[in-house]
Amino acid sequence: MPFARIGQKSWKSGQIVPRIPKRCFSKAAICRQSGQTSSPLDAETHDVVIVGAGAAGLALASALTRPSSSARSCRIALVEASDLSKVREWSLPSDQYSNRVSSVTNRSLSFLKTCDLHSHLNQTRTNSIQEMEVWDGVSDARISFRASELLGREHSTNMSTMMENLNLQRSLLKTLQSNSSIILLDKTKVDSIAKPNDDANSWPLITLDNGRVLRARLLVGADGFNSPVRRFAGIDCYGWSYDTQAVVATLFHPSRSTGNTTAFQRFLPTGPIAFLPLSPTISSLVWSTKPHIASSLRSVHPDVLSLMINAAFRLPQISLQYLYDYISEKGRDGLQVERNELADEIRWREAAHSIQPYSALSSTSDKQGDISEGFDLLPPLVEHIQAGSVASFPLRFNHAETYLGEGLGSRTVLVGDAAHSLHPLAGQGLNLALGDVEELASCIDDAISHGIDFGSRTALLPYVRNRYFENHKVMSAVDKLHKLYSSQLPPVVWARSVGLEVVNELDSLKTALMLSAGADSRTTPNPWNAAADGVTLVNNGIEFLKTGASVISGTVGSAVRNVLKV
Ligand SMILES: Cc1cc2nc3c(=O)[nH]c(=O)nc-3n(C[C@H](O)[C@H](O)[C@H](O)COP(=O)(O)OP(=O)(O)OC[C@H]3O[C@@H](n4cnc5c(N)ncnc54)[C@H](O)[C@@H]3O)c2cc1C
Repeated sequence: MPFARIGQKSWKSGQIVPRIPKRCFSKAAICRQSGQTSSPLDAETHDVVIVGAGAAGLALASALTRPSSSARSCRIALVEASDLSKVREWSLPSDQYSNRVSSVTNRSLSFLKTCDLHSHLNQTRTNSIQEMEVWDGVSDARISFRASELLGREHSTNMSTMMENLNLQRSLLKTLQSNSSIILLDKTKVDSIAKPNDDANSWPLITLDNGRVLRARLLVGADGFNSPVRRFAGIDCYGWSYDTQAVVATLFHPSRSTGNTTAFQRFLPTGPIAFLPLSPTISSLVWSTKPHIASSLRSVHPDVLSLMINAAFRLPQISLQYLYDYISEKGRDGLQVERNELADEIRWREAAHSIQPYSALSSTSDKQGDISEGFDLLPPLVEHIQAGSVASFPLRFNHAETYLGEGLGSRTVLVGDAAHSLHPLAGQGLNLALGDVEELASCIDDAISHGIDFGSRTALLPYVRNRYFENHKVMSAVDKLHKLYSSQLPPVVWARSVGLEVVNELDSLKTALMLSAGADSRTTPNPWNAAADGVTLVNNGIEFLKTGASVISGTVGSAVRNVLKV
């Protein structure tokens, strides 16, 4: 059985290998409603059934039906639980933005272009990111990425493109609409999946909640984190909750003469806060923080939240902690936090930290502008928040043990969040999903060109081989970044700060990091991956210090290792 196993795994040691499970799953494991059988006689036959029309499912359907695809004449069904007319008809005035946005890498964009994304994408609602400012909320150590300075003219100055998830989904949906080989079944849930007569070699039968039964040569789970397809196929996953919520909101602020093309991220011990530019005067917030703080931030008046956001990018940690406690206690006592009261408190704290009233570090000044020294190292001051745009999402790390079903789960494959979910601090979830889709579409294409059954294990193994390690590498680096920056232990803060400052001073090293981080990119590198690669650099630095056998470096090394659990 040449493909039974790709290699050994040791989850605890962090050496992750995609497992191709040897066990066969009982019918009960893949059929949610016990005793239910689907009659193959009633079933409509499809080459591909994709469950989930999020970005991953829509992109896969578009990739398989593009003119260059060998699968373009295949019969494809896309099953989605929600009402897709809401995506199709989604529209907002130009001065309002959805609170769910993504930073899409150049590589993802060039893949999406091959799926004809740009025919329907509303490009006036996308924004280029050309610079990044990332800094440590405890030590203030900072790294700045400016593609134009570091990479020269031969590279595009666009690091990534911000867009609303709905803008992306709507345009993919529009490209599919004219295609007769796709059947879109929305407002329809998958009810159960089974193999007729418990025959592992047969095609899966997918019973929908309207009683319709689909038979699929290949079943694709693009059905998100709680993936019913993953469960039906008996694919285990491992992971943990970060005990963190991401608070999102659409922010309004004054324009800057330098434009709004810089993404800002400050790593606070409670989680990173990110400011992502959408237009000259509108940006998106992703503030990852502890659930009780997230709950207080969600419940305060938007004017109070604006103040808290401005302070979170500027005030030292000790004062921020006071402000979290202040708004939490008020909430617990059923009292409103008054904007003026909070502004007075922040002003008092700024004075105590020797922050001048009109300096870039002041959160409360109404006269701050481009003239303050260092203004470009911090995001513009938030003036107000779009009504109804504040929301929060729980964050998890989750990786399926394999992306391919086996036994009674055979002919099943996972893409996107169904296969993996990670902390959004590096803006990678959607980009990994699009990487999966590109690889899976290419595998299907190859199989068809060579006359191989594309639902077979042989045809799909290259997909797992090419994506599992790639995804794991990014997920693991992002997880380590999160852990490294959650610590306030002095040796850990010292190590990460020295690492960041050293890299920041060495343009050639920074460029090399960015280029190596973007090595798989056809166009420009991705700075978030570069930041993640910085973790490896810190680790290597610790190794170097340890070989010096100094007591201090030994303490630093073990503290960092303890935090990273390596
Ligand atoms: C705050 C935040 C910020 C983020 N920022 C970024 C970023 O900047 N860049 C980036 O790359 N990523 C980002 N991500 C991650 C990104 O949003 C996700 O990785 C991506 O949206 C996953 O897409 P998906 O299609 O795999 O899953 P989903 O979007 O979850 O889609 C799954 C679909 O399956 C459907 N479904 C589920 N069950 C069934 C069923 N039984 N029957 C039929 N249909 C079903 C659901 O209705 C849904 O439409 C962020 C995430 C968060 C939380």
